[in-house]
Amino acid sequence: MEQCIFCKIIKGEMPSYKIYEDNDIFVMLDINPVTPGHILVLPKKHFEMFETTDNEILSKMTIIAKEVGIKIKNILKSGGFNININNGKLAGQEIMHTHFHVLQRFDGDGIKLWPANENEKQKVEKIYQTIINNIN
Ligand code: 5GP
Ligand code: ZN
Repeated sequence: MEQCIFCKIIKGEMPSYKIYEDNDIFVMLDINPVTPGHILVLPKKHFEMFETTDNEILSKMTIIAKEVGIKIKNILKSGGFNININNGKLAGQEIMHTHFHVLQRFDGDGIKLWPANENEKQKVEKIYQTIINNIN
């Protein structure tokens, strides 16, 4: 994709803090990190979203996210890491070249994911029935 910023980075047309690459996968530091060691794991081939990414590539991305995530965890002595995928604009995806965020977590970093939603709690049974009646 000619206009895609991540494709340009992968091709070396734009700079990045590259951490790892192989034939299929490219890993770099996020330019606007939430915590130290925040990386992005990308497929070299352009797929817009998680849901349209080839399954074999997704498997490779997952393994690399795990392996590089653990290495950075050990180097930076973090307490763990989150793997986050923003699938679609409404889900917070800004760059339409699919990627995993691997976010190292540190004691007292103040990040709180998934805020509880009391309204949704009341609707679980109804939503469950809707899903289970239509899933197959
Ligand atoms: P999204 O919201 O699409 O899941 O996340 C996009 C991420 O890409 C953001 O965290 C943003 O900081 C990062 N980003 C945007 N432009 C660049 C760039 O040119 N280089 C790098 N390394 N990261 C970028
Ligand atoms: Zn791209």
